[in-house]
Amino acid sequence: MKKLIALVSTMAMAVSLAGCSSSGNDQSAASASAGVSGTFEGTAQGKGGDVTVTLTLTDSKITDVSIEGKDETPGIGDTAMETMAQEIKDSGSIGVDTVSGATVTSDAVLEAAAAALTSAGLNPDDYKTAVSAATAAGDVTEEADVVVVGAGGAGMVAAITAADAGKSVIILESQAMGGGNSVRSTGGMNAAKTVYQDDNDFDEAAGVEKTLKTAAEKYADNETISALAKTVQEQWDAYQADPQGYFDSTELFELDTMIGGKGINDPELVKTLCENSADAIDWLDTIGASLHNVAQFGGASVKRIHRPVNDEGKTVAVGAYLVPILTQNVEDRGITVHYNTTANKILMSDGKAAGVQAEQKDGSTLTVNAKAVVLATGGFGANNAMVAEQNPALDGYITTNAPGAQGQGIVMATAEDVGAATVDMDQIQLHPTVHVADDGSANLITEGLRGDGAILVNKEGSRFTDEVGTRDKVSADENAQTDGQAWLIVDQSMYDASTVIQGYVTKGWTVQGDTVADLAAAMGVDADTLTKTIDDWNTCVANESDPDFGRTSFNHQLEGTMYAILVQPGVHHTMGGLKIDSSAEVEKADSSVIPGLFAAGEVTGGVHGANRLGGNAVADFVVFGRIAGQSAADYAK
Ligand SMILES: Cc1cc2nc3c(=O)[nH]c(=O)nc-3n(C[C@H](O)[C@H](O)[C@H](O)COP(=O)(O)OP(=O)(O)OC[C@H]3O[C@@H](n4cnc5c(N)ncnc54)[C@H](O)[C@@H]3O)c2cc1C
Repeated sequence: MKKLIALVSTMAMAVSLAGCSSSGNDQSAASASAGVSGTFEGTAQGKGGDVTVTLTLTDSKITDVSIEGKDETPGIGDTAMETMAQEIKDSGSIGVDTVSGATVTSDAVLEAAAAALTSAGLNPDDYKTAVSAATAAGDVTEEADVVVVGAGGAGMVAAITAADAGKSVIILESQAMGGGNSVRSTGGMNAAKTVYQDDNDFDEAAGVEKTLKTAAEKYADNETISALAKTVQEQWDAYQADPQGYFDSTELFELDTMIGGKGINDPELVKTLCENSADAIDWLDTIGASLHNVAQFGGASVKRIHRPVNDEGKTVAVGAYLVPILTQNVEDRGITVHYNTTANKILMSDGKAAGVQAEQKDGSTLTVNAKAVVLATGGFGANNAMVAEQNPALDGYITTNAPGAQGQGIVMATAEDVGAATVDMDQIQLHPTVHVADDGSANLITEGLRGDGAILVNKEGSRFTDEVGTRDKVSADENAQTDGQAWLIVDQSMYDASTVIQGYVTKGWTVQGDTVADLAAAMGVDADTLTKTIDDWNTCVANESDPDFGRTSFNHQLEGTMYAILVQPGVHHTMGGLKIDSSAEVEKADSSVIPGLFAAGEVTGGVHGANRLGGNAVADFVVFGRIAGQSAADYAK
């Protein structure tokens, strides 16, 4: 967080410097023969709004750079601006690389920098000389107790935990910035039996009953699910006899996760996830991250997703909130992070993991010899060839994933000399609400909106599914609609309460209408059909019953100005990955562990089975990131 605040204050300085730009222009004219000097500003359209670059020129050389873009995506666009400002300053060139994962912001930076040069009377093309790759410094070898591969959520949590256990830690990150898929996560983190759940009135009896019914009707032959359902039934009966606080239990969380995963999850990993979830929320508090706002999410029987709020009490995206805090904690502990450094081999010695080999941006090799290796490289959702190899029907699908989600950790660990096993590799999740923006980017529209009361309608203006059902079910229902697309509708009260929705509107992803007829016109659907759909839904809310689709969470009636976003399914999560045990040790096919090799987060398989519930991946990277960090530290003794 501190880093962001520092960035903002640097930006504030940049604005005040920009205020001096006219005097800079005067100076430049006066000293034309010596070259142009002064501060010059250029602006271009970024992802969320204007991106302004202020260049300080001394004798026509770029000597300082500041970039402002307050509406760029937190944790992604702002990090890219910071990285590019440094690179332009260091190289004196605007021929620097764009930052993958933040292409729109990066392009805006380069366009604005060119405009700043033009305003100085200079030719931007003269400043586009490609930044020559630094002369390869030669191969380097470093030593650490623990090397962590990947600076996403799992990697940073593992690194912080191992460092707090007294170990020296090095992180390798393939991209120019950390965060991976973690920084993109919007909804929140699931946890059961937290004190924050008790701040809520319990109004989810129908959700619990529905889950118990599903367990009995669909999973009677699944031993784990039946045993969990029996325990939950007893807990539920006891609660109804004497309702105290908010009803939830780690077993109900396990039951939801197992049912969500269609019963194929590894029950031990699910138990570990759920039993450690409340403690993980408390641990986040200790490092400065507060997830205290609790809501309901798809596939959860009760309110269980924990979310951050801003100073005004509005919910904010969990990843953009958590990643800067994790990054700050990594920095505070003096942990070295090598960015632009792609690990490509796990070093083995006597059958034990003994370090990692990686390629740096300049092509040189970095070898980190370590007592323990933690793989936290995320999934393979951004590698469509690997996705299609597992599920040919997904060939060419759009994805919500960050560019680093290439599956490289899985490839490294399954190399013959390492010998890791994988599980559930063909279990790939589609997310039903992905919006393709005008710039062609695929953007996740958070599931939380459906939990908070949004509905989905097809291009004919009718509802077609239980919006808070599991992602695979909602995606399949959506694929069956015209063009495989749907409109997600939220109302004014939801807009007022959520900076996330406000961001969607600012980015131009929504259409809106002050009346349902206006909204229908903006969406291009039949006004009478949409009016009937909204009226029918509001009746469902009033009766707390949805006879057509069986939705059990109603929240509020949709009223006032309404906003609609066009969505379609996209590849979102790869549930399969490396086989681990509940200590995050990587296993071979015969379930023996590979000494010194640990893994956490989306690079692993088994936790989510055939379908991950919203909020369970953040829980996964915090819970198993901590376990992997601690196990690696214990091993490295
Ligand atoms: C748009 C979006 C929204 C989401 N919302 C939610 C949500 O609300 N709640 C929830 O629970 N889950 C959510 N998820 C899922 C969740 O964010 C991810 O599953 C989780 O963050 C994965 O964390 P991770 O640390 O395992 O991987 P990542 O965060 O992806 O980090 C992996 C890191 O490893 C790096 N890396 C990869 N290969 C290498 C290599 N060879 N060498 C060095 N570094 C490498 C990557 O660049 C990346 O930085 C969402 C996912 C997306 C895409």
